Amino acid sequence: MTPLPPGRVSRRNFAKSGAEISLGTLGGLTISGGCRYGTPKQTPKRYRISGPSMNPTLWGPSRSLACESCGIRIRVDSSTLQLAMEGLSQGVLPASALACWHCGHVITKTQVRHGLATDELPPDVVEITARARRDFQPGAMVLIERQGTHAKRLLGVPGQTISRDRLGRLQIDGQLPGFSSLPQITVDADRCRERSRWLNEAASTGWQRQTDRSWTTHSDSSWLVYHHQNVYRGKHSGRVLDDYPGNLGVQRSLFPAAGLSIQFSLAAPVGGEQAAEVWTAIWTESGVVLQQQRVRLRANIAIPVQTKNPAVAGSSSRLHLPTDLVTPQTPVALRIAAGPRSRIDLSDLSVNRTVVYRDTAVVPRAKSANPARPLQYPQRLGDDEWFVVGDNVPLSIDSRHWGVVTTAEILGCIELST
Ligand SMILES: [Zn+2]
Repeated sequence: MTPLPPGRVSRRNFAKSGAEISLGTLGGLTISGGCRYGTPKQTPKRYRISGPSMNPTLWGPSRSLACESCGIRIRVDSSTLQLAMEGLSQGVLPASALACWHCGHVITKTQVRHGLATDELPPDVVEITARARRDFQPGAMVLIERQGTHAKRLLGVPGQTISRDRLGRLQIDGQLPGFSSLPQITVDADRCRERSRWLNEAASTGWQRQTDRSWTTHSDSSWLVYHHQNVYRGKHSGRVLDDYPGNLGVQRSLFPAAGLSIQFSLAAPVGGEQAAEVWTAIWTESGVVLQQQRVRLRANIAIPVQTKNPAVAGSSSRLHLPTDLVTPQTPVALRIAAGPRSRIDLSDLSVNRTVVYRDTAVVPRAKSANPARPLQYPQRLGDDEWFVVGDNVPLSIDSRHWGVVTTAEILGCIELST
């Protein structure tokens, strides 16, 4: 096997090159073999991703389906889509098993077949950017060599203790991971809803939704509140769950999500340049987190606004909140205030959740597990021991199955190659 050529090469060229280097696993089944190298000197710098284990951060070959009902685009790893097709064809999956994560519309076998016939999106290419042990920081993406080559994320480093709480969430030294690079997954995209899940607070008409699905409000607006619905349970009101949009046809239990945030764009009408105060209130298990930020608005220029993960943001405002405005079923509220007689235009409103690393298994499951060092929570990591996970938590095979990895198994830190 030949390492990928050095220098700047486009992703498409890599896809055509003969130097196939594959990463990733799917549901315990290795979908493409990795490769081994005799000495570190021979280790190539660039790798092409395959498989869904780091979705949505890194993608192997994938395809994009558009929901026939709400229009949202669903990016699905090609191997996942192929397995879904086989499941439907063989009757392992009932015809209604594949549903749009956003609106619940059933995706038919014909649609899946059509999706498989469309052009494949080329896989991401990653590049090793650092090989020194001091660069192996919590949250970094790394390449692991363990019966194949795998892209993973470092969750725990030597000296730390990995444990799990009653919901299976992995904790580092007793705390949920708080590094800034935690990936985000969309929960609601308002522009893809004919009927919005965002409603004015009771007895208020402070916000008006426009025909283009943007919103307008005037100075010192009232609260706009997100009402979550579970598309897999008859669209009943419910908590946000840890769904993975691209895991089409993957059957599993869903758990309550955490770390909600929202993003949107703000603009002022012509002649209306001004500053606006943006407040968001987000429900968490340990209470409602209020965030406040000041945004300078420009006429007809959309300024992107993003709230922080409440787990790391902390509460920044003592604003009075109406009772029961923010609950597990209505977990996000938004309020914006600007100068007198001002109008504010808000568009591209979406709710996101932070990936939560979770281990719900009773025993390690992979054949590649180290029998001499079985995983047992809480596990203190020794001087040469690291705990790695994949961002696609339900499908990734990683330290939850292997046990810890050693320094020698880490080929280096990686970044997406441009
Ligand atoms: Zn849909």
